[in-house]
Amino acid sequence: MGVPRFWRAIPNRYNLIGSRCTSCGNYYYPKRVVCPHCRRRSEMTSYTFAGEGKIETFTEVYVTSTEFEREVPYIIGIVKLDEGPSLTSQIVCDPEEIDIGTRVRAIFRRIGEDGDKGIIYYGTKFTPI
Ligand SMILES: [Zn+2]
Repeated sequence: MGVPRFWRAIPNRYNLIGSRCTSCGNYYYPKRVVCPHCRRRSEMTSYTFAGEGKIETFTEVYVTSTEFEREVPYIIGIVKLDEGPSLTSQIVCDPEEIDIGTRVRAIFRRIGEDGDKGIIYYGTKFTPI
C-alpha cells in the first residue's frame, strides 16, 4: 500500500525542489551542489519550496516555435519565490489579471509532448493567488 511507486520515483517533476545552504541559510533554484557564497564551507541540503512568490516582471509572447504555437499568446514572467530565488516561468492567466508584484503560486502543467515517443512533459508554471 502507500504511495504508488510511480509518484515516488519522480518527485522533482511535481515539486519545486532546490537547495538550501545550511552554512549561510541562502536558498537556490535550481539545485546547486556548492553555495556560491560559502564555496568550500557550504553544506547543501535538498529543499522543497512552498511554491509562492511574486511577479518581478512579465511579458506576453505572441510569436514562438511551432511546438508551442497553439498556446500563443502566453505570458512569461520572472517569479521571485518567498524564500529568495527567482525563476523564469509561464504564468497561466489573462494579462489583465496580473501586474508587477502580483502574488502567484506554483502549479504543475503540461509543457510539451514528444510526438514520436508519446512522452508528455510536465513542469512548473505559476498562476495568480
Ligand atoms: Zn552558503
